[in-house]
Amino acid sequence: MSENIIELRPYGNKALIVTGNASARLCGALEDVKEMLKKLEIEYRVYDKIENNPSLENVSEGGKVAHDFGADLIIGIGGGSPLDAAKAVAVLAVNEIAPLELYNNSFGIKPLPIIAVPTTAGTGSEVTPYSVLTRKDLQTKMSFGNVDTFPKLAFIDPRYTASLARDTTVNTAVDAFSHAVEGYLSRRSMPVSDILAVEAMQIFGKCLKPLLENNIDMDIREKLLYMSMLAGMVIAHTGTTIVHGMGNSLTYFKNVPHGKANGLLMEEYFNFNYENAKDKIDTIIHLVGLTTIREFGEKIRILLHDRIVLTDAEVSLYSSLAMKQRSALNNITNVTEEDLVYILKRACGQNQRADIKPVP
Ligand code: FE
Repeated sequence: MSENIIELRPYGNKALIVTGNASARLCGALEDVKEMLKKLEIEYRVYDKIENNPSLENVSEGGKVAHDFGADLIIGIGGGSPLDAAKAVAVLAVNEIAPLELYNNSFGIKPLPIIAVPTTAGTGSEVTPYSVLTRKDLQTKMSFGNVDTFPKLAFIDPRYTASLARDTTVNTAVDAFSHAVEGYLSRRSMPVSDILAVEAMQIFGKCLKPLLENNIDMDIREKLLYMSMLAGMVIAHTGTTIVHGMGNSLTYFKNVPHGKANGLLMEEYFNFNYENAKDKIDTIIHLVGLTTIREFGEKIRILLHDRIVLTDAEVSLYSSLAMKQRSALNNITNVTEEDLVYILKRACGQNQRADIKPVP
């Protein structure tokens, strides 16, 4: 990080570091940032109370701490939760608004500049404007963000991911892969986002065997972090689709880690969209070194050590909640609530529907 020291001064001289309570310390990122700020004589305070899947209440408190401290710079360190929370804190530090008004995506006063230090390789939040927060009122997660919530700088160092447990490494890698896949199959995909998505999916393909074998060395970690940055750049252009829309319920209600939720839905997402995106889906399967969607589904379940089990009532609730998310409109195939019920049931290993042909 030392070569980048001079880059921080133009952004502020009173920094609030926004992080969770453990991982930033364990991986060494927090110490590195503190050391850098001391060298630069930038005053700082640490707010380390960001929860997993942070709520509006959580970021509201962070915004108040930033305001009371008089911060003019926000540094997020961590996985998706602290980085996304840092964006909300940057807005709330200078805008006296109710946290719900974050979703207006237009703020009277420009958010404080944000610097992001990712410690997982999944979210890509360091290169997106999105802040995904838990909406207890809507029983799901929902994102806000505009051009001013893009981090001004990101320090991307795979050493900070070295201490991650196997499952976290895998789940976050699958989240990043899901960003590349959903961006590639998004209605808003475009040549530049497709190039980035193909590169990201190809890297995931190279990492799949080492991930399956739990042979995750620093070379693989570097590839994964690069992939997650590329995939973040993809969704910054395209947004996500129904995989994230439905996955959010699995996380909110069943506590399924975000990337795992996406991964377990992906086989049926491919099947559902296959008629409308044959070439692209064939390309995805090929890029990860496999030949059929079914083979992909089997591999991903082995990788994630899990499968989805839901009651009919859960399927129905999650489908209706996912339909209310913007990501439903972004899917390459038009979706109805009935379609989402079908996809979720298929993902649970149940249900066929006569009007949708199985993919060979
Ligand atoms: Fe995600």
